[in-house]
Amino acid sequence: MAPETADRPHHPRPGPRALTGDGRRSFSFEFFPPKTEAGERTLWNAIRRIEALRPSFVSVTYGAGGSSRDRTIEVTKRIAAETTLRPVAHLTAVGHSVAELRHIIGQYADAGIRDVLALRGDPPGDPRGEWVRHPEGFAQASELVTLIRELGDFTVGVAAFPERHPRSADWDSDIRHFVAKCRAGADYAITQMFFHVDDYLRLRDRLVAAGCTTPIIPEIMPATDVRQIRRFAELSDARFPEELARRLEAARDQPGEGHRIGVEYATVMAERLLAEGAPGLHYITLNRSTATTEIHQNLGVAVQEDRALASTPR
Ligand code: FAD
Repeated sequence: MAPETADRPHHPRPGPRALTGDGRRSFSFEFFPPKTEAGERTLWNAIRRIEALRPSFVSVTYGAGGSSRDRTIEVTKRIAAETTLRPVAHLTAVGHSVAELRHIIGQYADAGIRDVLALRGDPPGDPRGEWVRHPEGFAQASELVTLIRELGDFTVGVAAFPERHPRSADWDSDIRHFVAKCRAGADYAITQMFFHVDDYLRLRDRLVAAGCTTPIIPEIMPATDVRQIRRFAELSDARFPEELARRLEAARDQPGEGHRIGVEYATVMAERLLAEGAPGLHYITLNRSTATTEIHQNLGVAVQEDRALASTPR
């Protein structure tokens, strides 16, 4: 097991808590661990292009099991070592004992990574299958938040669900459990993908009504090809707008037009979210940079704020 992180030298730097709590907005990009060498090259091309935008942070998703988990750790460490970017490591509790989770968190701390997105994860193989906790592990993300907090000076993010978590029986329990996660020590949350701004606003209203003011960063997933819609449905229960689906269907064989439609829709969403006071935006890149950097550049004012933010000493 890795030594406790609390014994290591402390180099204070602003965490997402500071990024979202000082009135400035946070802009971030999400990657996943690639499976092949070609995928690795695509990822690193995207990382280098996004680095030029000087985002607040980038994050790397945690694989469902085995080798893809190792690749997450490798990619996250490499971003920390070889780029100017600040990596946030996703970590899921599913399939891990507490001892294993401690070990991974220690590895991150050793690599100078101090930002973790704490998640419960879904059952491997069938994300909608029965949830079974590891016999020596955790049942909820809130327990992982508590562990990370205990282990050292980390910023901790959690997941939020604008259309509520698919396993939550009702909104009351969904909000209650989310608030518990924040009280356990989460500094901020990033949402599941969604395509209706009102869903985000209603979630925020519900949380404020419950006394929870944790910053909720909306996730932006550009939909540029009608063939992606089924995949999105597998990944989340997000309602996909009929009008957008119809326009993408009409552009099925015109990739350039599909791209234009998807970037335009996501830009309008992003503008409205920022106008409504969202504390930032978290872009899903699918390891490609084109659509998300275009959306980000369309938000001219926001890019300037981002630059000011990124120039804050680390
Ligand atoms: P939790 O907060 O534990 O909630 C899960 C369910 O349990 C909810 O219905 C909640 O209401 C309920 N619950 C919570 N506490 C209690 C309690 N005390 N009693 C009863 N019920 C309770 N998955 C990956 O595998 N890898 C990733 O990298 C990854 N990244 C993600 C990033 C984001 C931004 C998001 C939104 C999701 C991500 N996921 C990832 C998916 C995530 O792991 C799943 O959505 C998972 O089902 C929920 O995780 P959670 O952390 O929200 O769980």
